[in-house]
This record gives sequence, C-alpha cells and structure tokens, in this order.
Amino acid sequence: SPETEAAYEAALAHALDTGSEILASGGAAIDAVEAVIMGLEDNPLFNAGRGAVLTETGEFSLDSSIMAGDTLNAGAVAGLSNIRHPISAARAAMENSPHVMLAGEGADQFAAEQGLEVVDPTYFFTERRWDSLIRVLERRGVEAPAHPLGAAQEDELSMLSFPDDRKFGTVGVVAMDQTGTIVAGTSTGGTTAKRWGRVGDSPVIGAGTYAANGVCGVSATGTGEYFIRLAIAYAICARIELLGETASEAADHVIHTQLTGLEGDGGVIVLGPDGTPTWSFNTEGMYRAYATSEGRREIEIYEYNEGAF
Ligand code: ASP
Repeated sequence: SPETEAAYEAALAHALDTGSEILASGGAAIDAVEAVIMGLEDNPLFNAGRGAVLTETGEFSLDSSIMAGDTLNAGAVAGLSNIRHPISAARAAMENSPHVMLAGEGADQFAAEQGLEVVDPTYFFTERRWDSLIRVLERRGVEAPAHPLGAAQEDELSMLSFPDDRKFGTVGVVAMDQTGTIVAGTSTGGTTAKRWGRVGDSPVIGAGTYAANGVCGVSATGTGEYFIRLAIAYAICARIELLGETASEAADHVIHTQLTGLEGDGGVIVLGPDGTPTWSFNTEGMYRAYATSEGRREIEIYEYNEGAF
C-alpha cells in the first residue's frame, strides 16, 4: 500500500541522514555503520532487532557482523536472544574480544558484560512476524508455540499491509569515510521458523559481510544457505581485486549467474574501491538507498535498474 511504501522510504531516508551526518563531519565509517544499523534494528519494519522474524519455537535468534576494511578486523555474533542492538555486540566482539565470532548464550553474556542494553525478548516481537511464523508452521504441519505473553500489539505497523515477505528485511550498511576506509555491517533475525540453532550468512564474514579498503565493501540479504556456499561477499570483492571487474559487474555476476544458477535468491549492496555505490538482486525488490558526499541520493524499493549510478 502507499502507506507501507512511504514508511519504508521514510526509514531509508532517515538512515541516509544519520550516516551522512556522521561522515560529512569527518566521522569514522565504523561509527556511521553502527549508528545507521542501530536505527534500523529499532525500526519494526525490518527483520533485525525489533521486528525480527521468529524461530520455529517462537523465539528470537539474532545474527550480526561488522568488518573494517582498513585492518580487516571483523566481529560477529550469532543467536543473540536479548541484546537490543546486535550490531553493537558484533562491534564489541571485534574491538574488545580476541575472537571474531561469538555464538549463543556466551554471545549474549559477552554483550551484557560489555554494557550493551539487555531487553526482554518480547521487545523484538511484532504481530506481523508472528503471523508469518504461524503461516509457515501451518504449512509445515507443526503446532504453533504459545503466543508470547503480553506481546500482542495493536501498533501502527500491524495496520500496514505487507503483500509479501520475499523482499527480505535483513539490514545492511556499507560506508566509506573521509580517510577512504570502508566498513560493512549486517544485522538480521534470520529466516522465519528456522530450526536447530540455524545460523545464516549474515554473521559469516565473507558470506554476508566483507570489507577491504581499496577493493570493496559488501552487505548481503537473501537465503543465507546459498550466500554461505558461494561466499558471496568475498566473491564479489575477489572478482574486483583479481579480475579487475567494476563493483557492479562483480555483483551482477555473483548474483545473476552464480546465485541464480543455484536457485538462491537475494541481493547485495556494494561500495567499489573508490566508494561508488552499487547493488544487485534477483528478487522483485530490495529496500535500498545510497547517498554520496556530492549530494547524490537514491531510495529504491522495486525494479532493478542496472548501472543505476
Ligand atoms: N540472509 C539472512 C539469513 O539467511 C536472511 C535475510 O537476509 O532475509 O539469515
């Protein structure tokens, strides 16, 4: 509906404003990426933080990662259940732990020890995602878990209509700052009704997120299993670095030839070596936007216009 479309466009415009303000005043790409993703995690329109999809047992299991292109340092968390901002947990893992990836209870515990905000999991709950879970469980013939107590909301979001959930709602940001450093970050609730501690591509460095200065930065969304198998984020950067392809050629090849070839679906946002933004996806749409220091700005939902930039 026009209302739903306007809500997504406003969220994307706000994301561009937040990131541009930090970068224009000489801020670091990592701060811009974290701040923008925190805002998107708080926004129930997206499948990250509040508004995340639910697991088969009606829980939340949040994944996130971040990578800094100047040092190739990276941090990732998988299966968080009660941390309001998974992207901040990924950043803390990168900056304040000797590890790259933390998972499950230990990741929640680490994030809490880092002083990150802990919330009751009902904070992440939205009726829209609950309804999607129930639909999937019905198809699967699995009994639905109990509706989380006290979590029913008649908020504005429940009034919006979402004709399909195939436009993925994972959030990702790639930014280049004034020093030329590229940082990429991704945050997600994963896939609806996922089972057995399933972890997708979003917290996997090289699959859902990658950044290397002078080469590229990538954040991905889509059916994570395919993104992991094709190491999509790294594959795009490797094509740019080793084959000399432009960011847009590399992204289109990996998405339209490799991903489509395996019948996987999804897309990527990419910054090329000089900071030129591009994107590629094989779904009907992908909520996406970019802003440049020269004042170019684009916000798109639907059709794919190749070589948009
Ligand atoms: N890539 C995410 C995952 O597989 C889901 C998504 O982007 O919608 O966990």
